[in-house]
Amino acid sequence: MALNIVLLGSPGAGKGTQAVQLAGARKVPKISTGDILREAVQSATELGRTAKAIMDRGELVSDDVMIGIVRERLARDDARAGFILDGFPRTVAQAEALDAILADRDPLMVLDIAVSPDEVVRRLGARRVCGACGAIFGDGAAAAVCPTCGGTLVQRSDDAESVVRERLKVYARDTEPLTRYYRERRTFAEIDGAQPADEVGRAVSEAVDRLQAVARQSVDDAGVKA
Ligand code: AMP
Repeated sequence: MALNIVLLGSPGAGKGTQAVQLAGARKVPKISTGDILREAVQSATELGRTAKAIMDRGELVSDDVMIGIVRERLARDDARAGFILDGFPRTVAQAEALDAILADRDPLMVLDIAVSPDEVVRRLGARRVCGACGAIFGDGAAAAVCPTCGGTLVQRSDDAESVVRERLKVYARDTEPLTRYYRERRTFAEIDGAQPADEVGRAVSEAVDRLQAVARQSVDDAGVKA
């Protein structure tokens, strides 16, 4: 049974942190569409040049572009045994495309990490990332250099408060309908993201075990019917 996981949650819900931990613990790749776009911006590819302006406004890159990126990434060998998708899908159109891409693969498990908008604004205001190694620090505002590699800590340009408010508006408009799209599935779970990160991690891990059992059962049931 492949571990095909989508992590949903607003900006600042802790998706990225949980995705890194889960990918490490379960030995499957973390696929973050935000990271893929930021790398494209860094290396100034055509995708990067188009995406930068959109990202700086807190808006979404087009569904066609994002679906193409994810389709190609999920076709690689290292995603055969599973993956953690972080930041995709973000619209119902992307979710429908993902279902089509995964039609002949094991069931998708969806975890939604829920946090209130006020908490998100507070968290992202304090978030810093290391410009050298990419490490994320939830309360990095207190430090100037990365404790891991000594690189300079910076605020992501889209973590400025005005951009965060726009990202939350976009999230409510385009991404919350996704929760409705997935909510009725037996392989959907909501996690309380307001808890301390290690407790969220425990809840995520338990939910993955539970959803994996449900997914396995649904594959067995389908096999019996066929
Ligand atoms: P993130 O790191 O996931 O918060 O993504 C940062 C920015 O990249 C978002 O605000 C969007 O502009 C863009 N982005 C990332 N993933 C997607 C996606 N699945 N669809 C559209 N835009 C995306």
